[in-house]
Amino acid sequence: MRQYEDGRAFAQKKDQEDPLKDFQQRFYKQEGVIYMDGNSLGLCSKDAEKALMNALEVWKKAGIDMWEKYDYFLYQDKLGAMCAPLVNADPEEVTICMSTTMNVHQAIATFYKPTPERNKIIMDDLNFPTDRYAVYSNIRVHGYDPDECLKVVKSRDGEYIYEDDVIEAMTDDVCLVLLPSALYRSAQLIDMKKIADAAHERGIYVGFDLCHSIGAVPHDFKEIQPDFAVWCTYKYLNGGPGAIAGLYINKKHFSMEPGLAGWHGNRKDTQFNLEQYFEHAEYAGGWQTGTQPVLSMAPLEGSLEMIKEAGLENLRKKSLDITEYLMYLIDTRLSKYGFSVGNYREDSKRTGHVALVHEDAIRINAAMKARNIIPDFRFPDVIRLAPVPLYISYTEVYDMVDIIVDIMEKKEYENFANKRGTVA
Ligand SMILES: *Cc1c(COP(=O)(O)O)cnc(C)c1O
Repeated sequence: MRQYEDGRAFAQKKDQEDPLKDFQQRFYKQEGVIYMDGNSLGLCSKDAEKALMNALEVWKKAGIDMWEKYDYFLYQDKLGAMCAPLVNADPEEVTICMSTTMNVHQAIATFYKPTPERNKIIMDDLNFPTDRYAVYSNIRVHGYDPDECLKVVKSRDGEYIYEDDVIEAMTDDVCLVLLPSALYRSAQLIDMKKIADAAHERGIYVGFDLCHSIGAVPHDFKEIQPDFAVWCTYKYLNGGPGAIAGLYINKKHFSMEPGLAGWHGNRKDTQFNLEQYFEHAEYAGGWQTGTQPVLSMAPLEGSLEMIKEAGLENLRKKSLDITEYLMYLIDTRLSKYGFSVGNYREDSKRTGHVALVHEDAIRINAAMKARNIIPDFRFPDVIRLAPVPLYISYTEVYDMVDIIVDIMEKKEYENFANKRGTVA
């Protein structure tokens, strides 16, 4: 049991004891701003900046020679291998390419092989919608009716996914399941192992979108054995806005033909023979398409090195502690103003953010922004708060709650309109 106390001195003591505290100085934190939105866009670090500048220098100096002489031709393999420990996969099972949305397209184009008897894909109704759009359009490309073939498992309560409901939906006509590892609103961590086992027993492919847990929660793909997975690298991985995304292909599928092929997925030894037929490389790199965007990849290198140095297990440990501390402060200091915690409390069922619920969330969120807190509003009533363990201190969490109390006491939120902005 973790134990917490009220008061700023307690938060300061926690910071002194925090083994990760020195990492904060390696990030660009703005003076006077409390940044709680690292689950949407992670902050820029000096390490990421340095890796980016390094790539830029190599381009200046070497031009075309940067590919071979400086190894940027296989940069995606290097970064894929660096990502692999985050999900306990083999280095060859991970590559980085395109965006999450495009990697969903790639995975569905590869694994969706509909027949008249078996053509349904299971998804949920709480995942981030782009995954759904991608699957929907892929079903249409295959000449099937998306409204018929997309089997949406509805949440019982609009907050959580119930694994048993998903398993119950795995009927004989289902050939693929795509679910998030964690929910972007309620922070629920899904039991991926349970879903994957049930799917495989029924001969169904299963893939996961790890956007809201990668870099925050260690995953064990050797145990879960998903068929594929995708993730972005700009949330907890701090890879930069629109940074390159991750793609995992289970090694038992290396001989499958990629749904979307391109010359960078060709075998590396014959790629530059420039033949008119495609010989796909039999590792995750075989799912590459066009030339890799080196400048959108480089910051990730610096960032991944930093995560390795910190240790993912240590990050998870602090994340669980600092989020529980935040929940403690919500319970003891904010509940009297109508706030509640909108996520599960158990460690095994929550990712790295806290869902702060209030019926006036839009206006309170706006008032927080005016006081230099950067939260993240999600319709209709959730303020997401992510005290990212690499760069957020316990004192910042304490100060934020202090400011929220002040906003509520002075009813500052009444000065704001009850409507949302474009990005939230
Ligand atoms: C953030 C996020 C995405 C983003 O996709 P992009 O292609 O990078 O824009 C996709 N899916 C989920 C679940 C996300 O959380």
